[in-house]
Amino acid sequence: MPDMPANDDARFMRLALAEARAAAAAGEVPVGAVLVKDGLVIATGRNAPIDRHDPTAHAEVVALRAAAQVLGNYRLDGCSLYVTLEPCAMCSGAMLHARLARVVYAAPDPRTGAAGSVIDLFQHAQLNHQTTVTGGVLAEEGAELLRGFFKERRMNPHPLREDAVRTPDAAFDGLPGYPWAPHYLSDLPALDGLRMHYLDEGPPLRQAQGDRPLTWFCLHGNPAWSYLYRKMIPVFLASGARVVAPDLIGFGRSDKPKKEGAHSFTWHRQVLLEFVERLDLRNVVLVVQDWGGLLGLTLPLATPGRYRGLLVMNTTLATGEAALSPGFVAWRTMCAQNPEFDVARLFARGNPQMNAQECAAYNAPFPDRGHRAALRAFPPMVPEHADDDGAAVSRQARDFWATQWQGQSLMAIGQQDPVLGEPVMRALRASIRGCPEPMLLPQAGHFVQEHGAAIAESAVRHFADAASG
Ligand SMILES: [Zn+2]
Repeated sequence: MPDMPANDDARFMRLALAEARAAAAAGEVPVGAVLVKDGLVIATGRNAPIDRHDPTAHAEVVALRAAAQVLGNYRLDGCSLYVTLEPCAMCSGAMLHARLARVVYAAPDPRTGAAGSVIDLFQHAQLNHQTTVTGGVLAEEGAELLRGFFKERRMNPHPLREDAVRTPDAAFDGLPGYPWAPHYLSDLPALDGLRMHYLDEGPPLRQAQGDRPLTWFCLHGNPAWSYLYRKMIPVFLASGARVVAPDLIGFGRSDKPKKEGAHSFTWHRQVLLEFVERLDLRNVVLVVQDWGGLLGLTLPLATPGRYRGLLVMNTTLATGEAALSPGFVAWRTMCAQNPEFDVARLFARGNPQMNAQECAAYNAPFPDRGHRAALRAFPPMVPEHADDDGAAVSRQARDFWATQWQGQSLMAIGQQDPVLGEPVMRALRASIRGCPEPMLLPQAGHFVQEHGAAIAESAVRHFADAASG
């Protein structure tokens, strides 16, 4: 065995600590490693499971792989690995496979350490004939890095990405008719650290899957946010159901990428697919309108078993086959020419029943131009041609609804909508298997949820009857 002087151990461990700090800067748990042969660092590694989408991307494995490439040999005879935290069973196993001469670690890991803390693979005579272990080299530095990282994460669980902005919480204080507590997640793979907001109200989940309540999964469009569902949510909740209503990234209380180019049909769809999986939504009635439908109507074909109902309002599937309607093109032109248009006024114009505070609430997420990238990005994102992003999956969705949909459906149409009104909706209805005659709302415009209490009441009855019948 090579016998390293203790000061060399400290020197190499400092290099491993630098790797750990780099991991922390990238949002990974700070563990770092260096691999040394003949007194020279031949490879480094830092923890990277989040970035690489790889549960095995521990610092030690990353360093072992890099060293094996350098040496052109899967056996790392005569090498020493320095790591800032006691290795886990996986990494210890990899070291034994590599026939590493020596492993030196800093802090012990009382939760998963496999070099003595929880188990000791290195003392197992049947497993190990090569690798010697030295623990506790610069242990305090290694431990302090981890403590600081987790403390910071507790205080700030969803750090804001540099390429995004976040509407201050105060903007959402005391909005009329919107008393619900925010929920956040930022660790869906597609979010890459962006913080997504959602409402999640209703009965706590019971263990037995058969006891799951109906879940109304409400998707808003552009330029709205989950506030749009405030008149429907109480009706759903009163029926004993659960309500989940996310804000799309770029809207509401969700983070807002600074660049319009961050938004794409496929990416938003992927976020929603991962969101449904993460929350494990089942027994879902999908509630959609506008972009909530363009995106949302493409979700059930991915996991049809999760959905048992569809409540569809003023939306469409943009399959890229037919020309976009003149009404939509006019809207897209308006957005391009007046990117600072007043969202509150847009709502006020079609909804004389709304008071000024309710209208103003629609402006709350967008205090300035920098927060409005999604508002600029979405209108041009509607698939227009057959090969546009989102068009192919929209065609798949149309076929799914027409031929494979097994659930119950209900359609409500705001008849004052000049863009996605009755003609568009009747065409959509024709491609939804078993969709009954729609509920017509003569007073309602595009944002039909502003007349949503009556729709929600009908829907609760409709889906209760469907469940019992
Ligand atoms: Zn490990």
